[in-house]
Amino acid sequence: MAAPSDLLASVFGFSEFRPGQAEIVDAVLAGQNTLAIMPTGGGKSLCFQLPAMCRDGVTIVISPLIALMRDQVRALKAAGVEAGALTSGNTDEETEEVFTALDEGRLKLLYLAPERLASSGAMSMLRRINVTAIAVDEAHCVSQWGHDFRPDYLRIGELRRALDVPLAAFTATADEETRTEIISRLFDGQTPSTFLRGFDRPNIHLAFAVKDNPRKQILAFAAARKTQSGIVYCGTRAKTETLAQALRDENHPATAYHGGMDAEDRRATEARFQREDGLIVVATVAFGMGIDKPDIRWVAHADLPKSIEGYYQEIGRAGRDSAPAETLTLYGPDDIRLRRSQIDEGMAPNDRKDADHARLNALLGLAEATGCRRQVLLGYFGETSTPCGNCDICDRPALLFDATDAVRKALSAILRTGESFGAGHLIDILTGNATPKVLQRGHDQLPTFAVGRDLSKPAWGAVFRQMMGRDLVRPDTERYGALRMTDAARPILRGEETITLRKDTIETATSRPVVKM
Ligand code: ADP
Ligand code: ZN
Repeated sequence: MAAPSDLLASVFGFSEFRPGQAEIVDAVLAGQNTLAIMPTGGGKSLCFQLPAMCRDGVTIVISPLIALMRDQVRALKAAGVEAGALTSGNTDEETEEVFTALDEGRLKLLYLAPERLASSGAMSMLRRINVTAIAVDEAHCVSQWGHDFRPDYLRIGELRRALDVPLAAFTATADEETRTEIISRLFDGQTPSTFLRGFDRPNIHLAFAVKDNPRKQILAFAAARKTQSGIVYCGTRAKTETLAQALRDENHPATAYHGGMDAEDRRATEARFQREDGLIVVATVAFGMGIDKPDIRWVAHADLPKSIEGYYQEIGRAGRDSAPAETLTLYGPDDIRLRRSQIDEGMAPNDRKDADHARLNALLGLAEATGCRRQVLLGYFGETSTPCGNCDICDRPALLFDATDAVRKALSAILRTGESFGAGHLIDILTGNATPKVLQRGHDQLPTFAVGRDLSKPAWGAVFRQMMGRDLVRPDTERYGALRMTDAARPILRGEETITLRKDTIETATSRPVVKM
């Protein structure tokens, strides 16, 4: 059998492995059960294709996407590798060809759609042929809490037990919960050799800013990058239209894109973006799946993304050519309220909602980070790293202050008013602003009235935003966004924990003092 490094050049035409690939190939070749967590585009298909070519017998590949399976089979065949697929998209002729190759013992890779596992004949067919390994693409589809759950994936564990061969699972979904579920369902809870590599995109500059005047902020960001191709992601369809118009008014070539447009317009916009240099597409998250433009120079978020995974995917569309690319994500208290209420008002069961809140918290932790953003981002994906030198906080370290006292005052105002009011009213109480609402409720008589005069109104706004970002308080969707205290805040209220917040986003949102460390 050929050595993997020879096949890398002769079959795939690559001169070297990407980070992580060689280790995974070695483990799979050694017949270990493996779980590889790699970002989309990281090069995972090679990690099971190459070992399959080096070993005797057939490797079964289970993948949820028929189009992707067909592409891979076509590419493998073109490179002279015996591969075939059994999917509902097959012609009779194709199926016949697969079985002939199997009978003659030639086939190295057999791609199977998961629903095939449910058919009665499949298992006996698979027992008859010489299966020596199983590879599972998009292994997170086995997770019932994930967004891509495929019930047929639950049969894979049974298949592994029946064939008693090593299994290699691949996914780009890195959170702990999903990983645990993959291990329990595919490997019967026995921890496989696990590889996690390559989430860093060092050429992408990371930056967040608090929303001040979002339209102006996006226009300024685009103006500094004139003639460069970029994407602006917005939370709503309507906003994509108005922001695209605002950009055109400033003489940028810009166009909107969202799921409400008809399919033809969407395809035309995708093609135009691919073809044209310097076009800005202002889009909802519907834009991007099929986009494979290597020289997108920037991605901006006019609204906070849904989760840290969404953020990572969306900024990841920039700089695929490895040249420097820039990002800016805007966020504010309204984004936090909106995203929380979307989760709360959804139909998901409660533990799923908890998981979604946790994913949102991870993103908010990144938005309110007090140190290198890349460390926070990669840390979420399980990678450790040193300060990156390519994010806004590495550029200009954040100014911090001990906010324990301020946070305790805010919590006390929330509790003394029965967790029934939003930030605006609470800030009026703290700063001693005797509005009609404050007087009418008798809140000027509270011991917390005016105890926060040392901070300005906008400063208190920033404290509340950061408290929401740390999930110390949550807006109650059923009570018009009234803030409730969470369990995470109790130790601070009781004086058992201190808390550090960013001072720079409190003093001014616009003119940040530059400090050198
Ligand atoms: P995914 O991890 O999303 O399945 P693929 O396996 O499709 O990614 O690989 C993504 C791209 O990277 C493909 O175009 C592939 O040809 C390329 N690629 C994979 N491995 C290497 C390598 N060692 N050197 C150069 N390019 C590679
Ligand atoms: Zn950094």
